[in-house]
Amino acid sequence: MSVEAIKTVAVLGAGTMGNGIAHVFARAGYNVILRDVEQIFLDRALETISKNIDREIKKGKLAEVDRAGVLARLRQSTDMKAIAAADFAVEAVPEKLEIKRTVLQEADAILRPEVILASNTSSISITALAAMTKRPARFVGMHFMNPVPVMALVEVIRALQTSDAAFETTMRLAENLGKKPVAVNDAPGFVSNRVLMPLINEAVYAVMEGVATVEAVDAVMKLGMNHPMGPLELADFIGLDVCVDILQVLHEGLGDPKYRACPLLKKYVAAGWLGRKSGRGFYNYAS
Ligand code: NAD
Repeated sequence: MSVEAIKTVAVLGAGTMGNGIAHVFARAGYNVILRDVEQIFLDRALETISKNIDREIKKGKLAEVDRAGVLARLRQSTDMKAIAAADFAVEAVPEKLEIKRTVLQEADAILRPEVILASNTSSISITALAAMTKRPARFVGMHFMNPVPVMALVEVIRALQTSDAAFETTMRLAENLGKKPVAVNDAPGFVSNRVLMPLINEAVYAVMEGVATVEAVDAVMKLGMNHPMGPLELADFIGLDVCVDILQVLHEGLGDPKYRACPLLKKYVAAGWLGRKSGRGFYNYAS
């Protein structure tokens, strides 16, 4: 399907990433069908989108008059059949293979055969996900960054089976969202996590070995390398459990011990210190 023919987009999963993805499609003029399993998750997503739109208006990134239009383009449903009208679909359900398999196969059975189905997975093989569907040539990775309305990058990942046409349409669609798509082939961690996670892991080793404090490690990377966030601050933002899971994918997928998660990182996760979301990680957020 050509990018010009895409008017309506289905977003499967209305969590952290799904609500952001729905937001940027609606902001760019697309009709969106946001689907989740419970109405409460859809209500929460709409609340978040509404707050984020207000923030964009305050910052002058969106005109006040566009507010109603963006919200009017967003439809929600708990019924998978509602996505039948979609011309493109993005899956953003939890990072569990069995959940992805179920959702992708259900969506595959409902979407028209020419529709491209994309996954926002951070670490599961796009080639393996494509093979679970009956449209492997029209299956692609579309890896948005958190927070989606703010971050420019979309990694567009080509599975072994992805057709040139589906890949090009997805690249152009990401541009239509005002994003900067970067073409990447399917490999564990793609580029973003393959490069970022060893950096975070090494920062944790530096702390564990007493090379420097958490604050000092982050200060070196911010002041010396111009990173907007230090690696440990960023790890807290991503979630330390998510970092361990991604390192495990890199370790298993690439077989190189350099991707082994640092014992201190695993210890924090075992303690339930998962970063911002649990109130404590390398920094303390409870106050
Ligand atoms: P999340 O847990 O915040 O949201 C997942 C949503 O999917 C939840 O609302 C859940 O109710 C819903 N869901 C569960 N089963 C469903 C089903 N059968 N149909 C429809 N919805 C269903 O997760 P998230 O952080 O938004 O992550 C989603 C995907 O995006 C994962 O694959 C993750 O790896 C990837 N990702 C996450 C980030 C991040 O920073 N959070 C960044 C890039 C990519």
